[in-house]
Amino acid sequence: MSKINQNRWDCTNCGVNQGPNDIWHEGDICGTCSDELDELEQDEEDKKEMNGMLITIYDRIGIDEPSNHEQILQYVFVDVKETADPVDWHDGDVAIAFRRWIEAQAKQDE
Ligand SMILES: [Zn+2]
Repeated sequence: MSKINQNRWDCTNCGVNQGPNDIWHEGDICGTCSDELDELEQDEEDKKEMNGMLITIYDRIGIDEPSNHEQILQYVFVDVKETADPVDWHDGDVAIAFRRWIEAQAKQDE
């Protein structure tokens, strides 16, 4: 068995063959895939946090959770990701995104 073959491995996520100098990550995945998975995980965390903030907003303005809450959450998530600081976003950004969602609905009705 050649040394080169011993050191080569395939990423279990994207299947790309990796050389001995490529970075290995837990689960036999490459650096690129690891970054992507980290981002997905972060997105999930952020979405959970935004979910809680939205429910606080509903509470504050005295409405029950709307039946289209999931749709609102998705809008808020995309809006905050696009416009706010990716790390330091806060409930104010969620409130602004929620306001934009309401405005967007009003425009649709015109
Ligand atoms: Zn990969």
